[in-house]
Amino acid sequence: MIIRPRRLRQSKTLREMVRETSLSARDFIYPLFVKHGRKLKDPIASMPGQYQFSVDTLVEEAVEAWDLGIPAVILFGLPDRKDAVGSRSYADDGIVQQAVSAVKARVVDMVVMTDVCLCEYTDHGHCGVIKEGKVDNDSTLELLARQAVSHARAGADFVAPSDMMDGRVAAIRMALDLAGFQDTGILAYAVKYASGFYGPFRDAADSAPQFGDRSSYQMDPANALEALKEAMLDMEEGADMIMVKPALAYLDIIRRVREECLLPLAAYSVSGEYAMVKAAQEKRWIEGERIMMEILLCIKRAGADLILTYFAKEAARLLSKN
Ligand SMILES: [Zn+2]
Repeated sequence: MIIRPRRLRQSKTLREMVRETSLSARDFIYPLFVKHGRKLKDPIASMPGQYQFSVDTLVEEAVEAWDLGIPAVILFGLPDRKDAVGSRSYADDGIVQQAVSAVKARVVDMVVMTDVCLCEYTDHGHCGVIKEGKVDNDSTLELLARQAVSHARAGADFVAPSDMMDGRVAAIRMALDLAGFQDTGILAYAVKYASGFYGPFRDAADSAPQFGDRSSYQMDPANALEALKEAMLDMEEGADMIMVKPALAYLDIIRRVREECLLPLAAYSVSGEYAMVKAAQEKRWIEGERIMMEILLCIKRAGADLILTYFAKEAARLLSKN
C-alpha cells in the first residue's frame, strides 16, 4: 500500500495540523428571550439551561456571553399584551426595544440583533396580518418595516426578519434607509422550513399559531431548489447575511446555499435540536458535550459561517478550556 490515510491520524499534533474545520466562540450568535418585569430568570422547561429574562438579567447574560468570546446576541420578545396586528412589536417602548438599548449601553461592542416577526405579538400567533382567514403578505410588510425601524432606533446593529413573507427584505431595507438607518444590517431568515424542530421555542416565546400551521409561508422540508431561490431573492433584495433554519436536518441545504451565495451564511440550530441533546443526555443515553461539539462543528463544516445556538455559552466554555 502506497497511500495510507492513517499516516495523517497518528498523533494529536498531526491531526490538529490537517484539521479542515475549526470551531470558535466567534462563530456563535446567542438567542435570548426577554419579557417584562424585574430580576426574572424563568427556566424554559423544554430547554434546560435556557431562560426567559427581564431586561436587567438579560443584560447580565449578555455580559457573560461577551466575556466568553461570543460576539453577538439575537433577541426575541415576549410582549405584555397581544393583539391582531402585533402592535407591541413596533412600539418604541416595546420589550425588545428596551432590551436592545440596555445591552448596547452595557456591552458597547457586542453585535445586537433582533428577531423581526409578528408571531410573538399577535393574539392569533401567525407571523402576519390575517385577512379573510389567510396570512396576508403585503399588509404584513408595512408592520415588519415599522418593527425593524423601531429596533434600529433602539440601537440594533442587525434586524433579522423571520416571517418568510415575500418581499420583506426589500421593504425593510427601504424603510431603514428612509429613516436614516442605512448602516443597520439585515440578517434574513432566507431559508426557513416549516419544521417540527421549533416545538420548544414556541413554549419559550409563547408563539404557537392558534389555528392552522405555517406551511403557507414557511418552506416544505422536501424542497432544496426552492431554498436557492429564496436565498437569491433575499440577496437581491439587499440582505447582508442570510440564514438557513433549522440546521441539523438541513446540512445539505447549508452546503448548497453556501456554494451559490456570496453573503456570510448563518445556520440556526433550533430549540428542538437543543432539546433532543439535553433530553438524551439527561437519560445518559449519549455524551451530551461530545454530541454538542460534534453537531456545531458539522454545521460549520457544511458551510455555515455563523451558528445561532442555545449551546453558545456551554460550547464557548469548553472551547476556552481546550
Ligand atoms: Zn414568526
